[in-house]
Amino acid sequence: MTSDNRVLIAGAGPVGLAAAAALLRRNVRVTVFEASASLSEESRASTFHPSTLDFLDELGFAGDLIAQGLKAPGLQYRSRRDGVLARFDFGLIHDITHHPYRLQAEQFKLTRIIHTKLSGDPNYQIEFGRCLRGVTQDANGVTVQVQSTDGAVEECRGSWLIGADGARSEVRSALAMEFEGFTWPERFLVVSTPFDFYSVIPELDPVTYVADPQQWHFLLQIPGAWRLMFPIAPEVSDADALTEVFAQAQLATVVPGRTDYEIIHTTLYRVHQRVAKSFRAGRVFLAGDAAHINNPLGGMGMNGGIHDALNLAERLARVWHGEADEHDLDRYDAQRRGIAMEYVQMHSIANKRNLEARDPAEQDRFRDEMRAIASDRNCAHAYLERVSMIASLKRAAELG
Ligand SMILES: Cc1cc2nc3c(=O)[nH]c(=O)nc-3n(C[C@H](O)[C@H](O)[C@H](O)COP(=O)(O)OP(=O)(O)OC[C@H]3O[C@@H](n4cnc5c(N)ncnc54)[C@H](O)[C@@H]3O)c2cc1C
Repeated sequence: MTSDNRVLIAGAGPVGLAAAAALLRRNVRVTVFEASASLSEESRASTFHPSTLDFLDELGFAGDLIAQGLKAPGLQYRSRRDGVLARFDFGLIHDITHHPYRLQAEQFKLTRIIHTKLSGDPNYQIEFGRCLRGVTQDANGVTVQVQSTDGAVEECRGSWLIGADGARSEVRSALAMEFEGFTWPERFLVVSTPFDFYSVIPELDPVTYVADPQQWHFLLQIPGAWRLMFPIAPEVSDADALTEVFAQAQLATVVPGRTDYEIIHTTLYRVHQRVAKSFRAGRVFLAGDAAHINNPLGGMGMNGGIHDALNLAERLARVWHGEADEHDLDRYDAQRRGIAMEYVQMHSIANKRNLEARDPAEQDRFRDEMRAIASDRNCAHAYLERVSMIASLKRAAELG
């Protein structure tokens, strides 16, 4: 058994590595256990909000990420029935962020940047192919069972543990922590194509949500491609949904008369709305997808997870250096679980309901509401403050 005064982190996703970076900045030793043999290359979240970019800037990662991403200066809502409902320019919130735009960049770019930058730090230890299997704790520390790829299990010890091991978190299971919520009946299909949608859709923005009772969807521009996301009905099998023919049929609904797109990638995934009953159990914490999951409408999953990581890391660093009492760590749960419940869950569910609304009166309400917000400068400012997750940070401070 190794025994050390370190913070252990399960998972080298964006949340685990952001937590590691924030702890190392405060000279706290960390060990990250990552089950896979290397950092994930999966195509998943691809939107960084202004609030997250401000944080990443403080940590010294924003410049490299921005260089590899695409700045989206605006976002819009439209509906098939009414056309463009509202367009928003992030420039309006230049007074409250250093990054008045969304950055479109795949999450694996961030994890690579963080890992590369941390690699020279003697306090940074990362172990690939090491899967956390169990957790026990006592008054002085945490003991974790770690399984290597050859099957051997070893015990490691640290002072605190952050479970940033994703939606199927073993840390959460080891704590027997309930993951309350529900799973949507439809899955989401993401189709990527290099096709230039600006050439066929007038007044398009790089982040565009399209409301429609039959086939709502969104278009998200990333470097070199567009990602389009569609809900897939329960009666369609996974195998069928992942065929080229099926993806082409979804794309064919976007621009009337246009078919036969070049498809470079498809992902199908099940979408949940769940929040762990608590984000803290003694010396163990949950962060990111391990703590909360939601639909991707609004891009709040990874962004909210990075916000968790930074909130928790700063608190742990203060306790570590004797600058704060351990009770202060309860504020992490109060603030970040509070935000997951009242902000991320509420708004991501409302976003989906607005896009899929079948009742014409509901469609009218959404249209009128979006038009009213976009036509009033103060309302538009408040709206952008909310969707950029700046408002959630202010609200978190009030919660704990
Ligand atoms: C297919 C897919 C598509 C998505 N698309 C979008 C999207 O378009 N927009 C959006 O906003 N969000 C999207 N998401 C959600 C987004 O990717 C997550 O919110 C984000 O990755 C959360 O980061 P994380 O670090 O908490 O978890 P993860 O990124 O899941 O990282 C967890 C890490 O922990 C490792 N791990 C797991 N178990 C263990 C263990 N026992 N021991 C050690 N390591 C372990 C994993 O290998 C992984 O590297 C998507 C998710 C999925 C699954």
